[in-house]
Amino acid sequence: MKKEAVFIFSEKQLGYSFSETHPFNQKRIVLTLDLLKKINAITDDEIITPRIATDEELLLVHDSRFIDIVKRAGKGQVSNEVGSVYGIGTEDTPIFPNMHEASAMLVGGTLTAVDEVMEGRSRYAVNLGGGLHHGFSGKASGFCVYNDSSVAIKYMQKKYGARVLYIDTDAHHGDGVQWTFYDDPDVCTLSIHETGRYLFPGTGSITERGNGKGYGTSFNFPIDAFTEDESFLEIYKTAIEEVAAFFKPDVILTQNGADAHYFDPLTHLYGTMKSFEQIPRIAREIAERYCEGRWIAVGGGGYDIWRVVPRAWSHIWLSMKQIPIPTGNLPDEWLTAWQDQSPVPFIKTWQDPNPLYEPIPRKAEITEKNTQMLNKALHIIRNK
Ligand SMILES: [Zn+2]
Repeated sequence: MKKEAVFIFSEKQLGYSFSETHPFNQKRIVLTLDLLKKINAITDDEIITPRIATDEELLLVHDSRFIDIVKRAGKGQVSNEVGSVYGIGTEDTPIFPNMHEASAMLVGGTLTAVDEVMEGRSRYAVNLGGGLHHGFSGKASGFCVYNDSSVAIKYMQKKYGARVLYIDTDAHHGDGVQWTFYDDPDVCTLSIHETGRYLFPGTGSITERGNGKGYGTSFNFPIDAFTEDESFLEIYKTAIEEVAAFFKPDVILTQNGADAHYFDPLTHLYGTMKSFEQIPRIAREIAERYCEGRWIAVGGGGYDIWRVVPRAWSHIWLSMKQIPIPTGNLPDEWLTAWQDQSPVPFIKTWQDPNPLYEPIPRKAEITEKNTQMLNKALHIIRNK
């Protein structure tokens, strides 16, 4: 019988770890899954073990020389100096033991999710271990070694002949995926992110629209620092609806970085749980309208792993299962299980306290700027 949704998970996904103190921490997947279990929203038969991507699959996107360097680096055979030519051994993306195997497992998890959906065993699938959107074909970048989404998109094109719409709501620009498909008219990339003026990776302007035959299938929505829920959701909803209507995808792949939240230590956006409740619900509606439901979700950024990510990512699964948005308190058993490990007091409720922060005097100005950006970015399809 076809499942509504599957959740790709293995403890081995935690092997993707740069160090104990690095902000990228896959423990957030364990925290999320445990939260879902403690509200009885997931059963064991809905959890699927990821496979490891083969070299042949990685080669759909990545250079053989880069793969070779990552393999050797994970065995301690590459210096930081040599590695840094390939984006590893840097402060952001240090070398760690078995980094090839760990990175290939995150890619394999997204491929597992793809096959579950494309072969009709499940309507939706989520791999929170994926979403490494800064990975380039020959270079690691910004905590990302192999780019699971790029590999998965190539794989869907090759194996299933699918037109893919990639939607990235991480606070950082989805540069690795965008540049991989910049010339390809059959893959559409859409990224909403904090403007690159002050934030890594610096790209993602509205003028990056694609190249050659791919011109007009790359969409960027750079929003201002301090953007709040209302404006974020207006941009997201309008962008996804108009781009999906224009591109008519066969399948949607969403990258669900949870670093646009006010608490996130690496970014300057002012999102709250109100945004994270709606992001996956709207994505699901779009997948139903255009793709007979086919929707694969991956994780991404998210550096407040205690107060933000578990709640934010739970909403992806709850949307897939069409469970209403929960209100009130998080389960006591979950809070008591993890509170001792958290360096900050938990938010004990599903919704954030209202207000979460002091009002921003520039709110109207920021909203207006974002709306103007949205109109400019969509101009190209509104005038077709
Ligand atoms: Zn990010």
